[in-house]
Amino acid sequence: MPSLMPFAPPNVGSDRPAAPLDGSRVPPPAERRVEWLRSTPFITMHLACLGVFLVGWRWTALAVAAGLYAFRMFAITGFYHRYFSHRSFRTSRACQFLFAVAGNSAVQKGPLWWAAHHRFHHRHSDEEVDLHSPFWQGFWWSHMGWFTCKVNAETNLKAVPDLARYPELRFLDKFHGIVPLALAGSLYALGVSLHRTNPALGTSGPQMLVWGFFISTVVCYHATYTINSLAHKWGSRRYETGDDSRNNFFLAVLTLGEGWHNNHHHYPGSTRQGFYWWEVDLTWYALKAMSWMGLVWDLRSPPVHIRDRTGRRGAGTA
Ligand SMILES: [Zn+2]
Ligand SMILES: [Zn+2]
Repeated sequence: MPSLMPFAPPNVGSDRPAAPLDGSRVPPPAERRVEWLRSTPFITMHLACLGVFLVGWRWTALAVAAGLYAFRMFAITGFYHRYFSHRSFRTSRACQFLFAVAGNSAVQKGPLWWAAHHRFHHRHSDEEVDLHSPFWQGFWWSHMGWFTCKVNAETNLKAVPDLARYPELRFLDKFHGIVPLALAGSLYALGVSLHRTNPALGTSGPQMLVWGFFISTVVCYHATYTINSLAHKWGSRRYETGDDSRNNFFLAVLTLGEGWHNNHHHYPGSTRQGFYWWEVDLTWYALKAMSWMGLVWDLRSPPVHIRDRTGRRGAGTA
């Protein structure tokens, strides 16, 4: 999708090379075309939400959907992003696998695919080769177009050698449909069971499937995608990061802490993305609690001199 942005090109620093040094190239239009067949599962997830008109709603189904949204958003931000993509803290091999399963349940492909693409984004953030820059490719491409084309479909294992050496992670990455299918089946079974054992709740297998799986997942999708689209357009900039990443309170609440995206691009190695106490970062609080339980360790915060090294550009906000 061509960019229709009426404003200036991204805030790419003048110290950047004109062409990427790692040989990355901008894929030609033919490779960036939406592949409808490949995108069938993604489209089906959305269409299945319309099932709500057939199954109705009950508080039980809504509560399960909300709980699964929170759990899986945390799994994406805490595990797929802050652990697998950035290795910003450490854990055991067993927990690493469980974190991968949890992230996989959000139906955003496998951990290696997710991490490999995200690392590329950091290497080329808002450059022309960036996978999902709203400036170069337009808002919708950055939001949800970039993963519907062939060129971004495969996992580049060379980008994640530290993760690819674990066969259990490669297995999950290859068969990334297993966990989502198991979750969908479990939700249906839960609904059927509640219908039998506690009919007063008024829920059913189909209702639990529509709310707990389809609606919850699709809302989680689009909240996640805002970090690639809106968080590079809408918000304030504390740091000169060489891209156009933004800090945004609303997105931080929606994504459990990912909205402090300008902070994150300033110091991606930090587990903590809300750098100050008033920058709400629910993922950080949860990971901190997990560290008290001994499940994770070596969580990182930005060193004070890096946190305080601010730079503002003239335009300030979008
Ligand atoms: Zn970014
Ligand atoms: Zn990142």
